[in-house]
Amino acid sequence: MTGYAAAPAPRSVPVVIVGGGVAAAAAAIALAAEGVECAVVAPIRSGMSGHRIGESLGSGGGDLLAGLGLRERFLAGPHRTAGPFFSAWGAPVLLRKPPTRGWTLDRVAFDTMLADAMATATPSRIDGSVRRVLREDADWLVDLGNGAAARGRFLLDCTGRASAIGRRLSTQRRIDRLVACHATLERADPGVEPTAATVLESAPDGWWYATLLPSGRGLVAWFTDPCPGPILHDLAAWQAMLAESRFTGPWLASAGFAAPGLPAVTPAGTLYLDRAADAALGWAAAGDAAVAFDPLSSHGIVSALWMGQQAGRAAAAWIRGDARPVAEYADAVSRGTARYLGERRAMYTQERRFADLPFWRSRHADLWP
Ligand SMILES: Cc1cc2nc3c(=O)[nH]c(=O)nc-3n(C[C@H](O)[C@H](O)[C@H](O)COP(=O)(O)OP(=O)(O)OC[C@H]3O[C@@H](n4cnc5c(N)ncnc54)[C@H](O)[C@@H]3O)c2cc1C
Repeated sequence: MTGYAAAPAPRSVPVVIVGGGVAAAAAAIALAAEGVECAVVAPIRSGMSGHRIGESLGSGGGDLLAGLGLRERFLAGPHRTAGPFFSAWGAPVLLRKPPTRGWTLDRVAFDTMLADAMATATPSRIDGSVRRVLREDADWLVDLGNGAAARGRFLLDCTGRASAIGRRLSTQRRIDRLVACHATLERADPGVEPTAATVLESAPDGWWYATLLPSGRGLVAWFTDPCPGPILHDLAAWQAMLAESRFTGPWLASAGFAAPGLPAVTPAGTLYLDRAADAALGWAAAGDAAVAFDPLSSHGIVSALWMGQQAGRAAAAWIRGDARPVAEYADAVSRGTARYLGERRAMYTQERRFADLPFWRSRHADLWP
């Protein structure tokens, strides 16, 4: 192996998980439950704080968390049950939709709970990002490029949208270049108690989303493509754009929030692998590394929990000599991806007013071959 930094050869473990997010935690817990040793390779964040976008947990998340033994810890967290949902989508009126079951998460607390549970499931943790992956005999050698490495028989890619391994072992499809421009809002008027609601609003070039976070702060996000450079640097332009939205800006103002600061930008488009696992080679991808969903679907966290758990169980079976669950997992992810692409199109085609404009036209196209 030319160029591989000289370091003591790492001990081979049955499974190496790359990544330290939702899917990785679910996989590590599932492997521990199966009695299969694993090592986790991911950058260790020094004290998570602030805000991370991705706060809507669908009702299916409750059962998945219970299955991972996390129900009590989750329910004791600072999350709140989902409140009323208002949507202006397909017509210029804001309608109250049937109540959704689920939660609005304090995402930092949620991710910290999962990171703690993963640390309990496996004490073997290597701090850093994977630079490359090599085959050596029947093992995967995971190289961090700094002399550190991990070695294992089965490889689980849980690296989120980076899909650091899966996109090299399979083909990654990018459906669109959606980005989220998002900011939190402080309460300007402590005398106004904001409703614990969520507002969704379509617009000619994208869509707005706003919600009340469990911390009492507001969240606003503008989803569009391509990435709108000017509003990322021009506070007045961003605040004016929000104020001019038909419902979202006025709702946030009436709920007593101050205008937001400059938005952060995060990729949010749909990505998926042609095949999420390979039983012959002994690898699988789970979570966003396998399929990254448009946030309009609110599927991401529930799917990452499910895929992480299923991929962990399949890896355990593979280690015991039964390769079938790995192939079944890949088939199930492919079916789920096809279903999701149909749902995505159905959601976007409910908005026909802007059908001639590029943002909507590309989303009305049928994508599944
Ligand atoms: C704007 C936006 C809004 C969203 N809103 C929602 C929502 O409301 N509800 C919902 O359900 N979902 C939402 N999602 C999606 C949701 O956040 C993700 O689906 C979920 O976090 C995926 O979990 P994951 O474990 O696959 O990836 P992540 O949680 O992203 O974790 C990836 C991990 O991999 C590590 N990593 C990356 N590269 C490497 C590398 N080379 N080597 C080692 N480690 C690596 C990272 O450090 C991290 O630990 C949203 C997403 C976006 C972008």
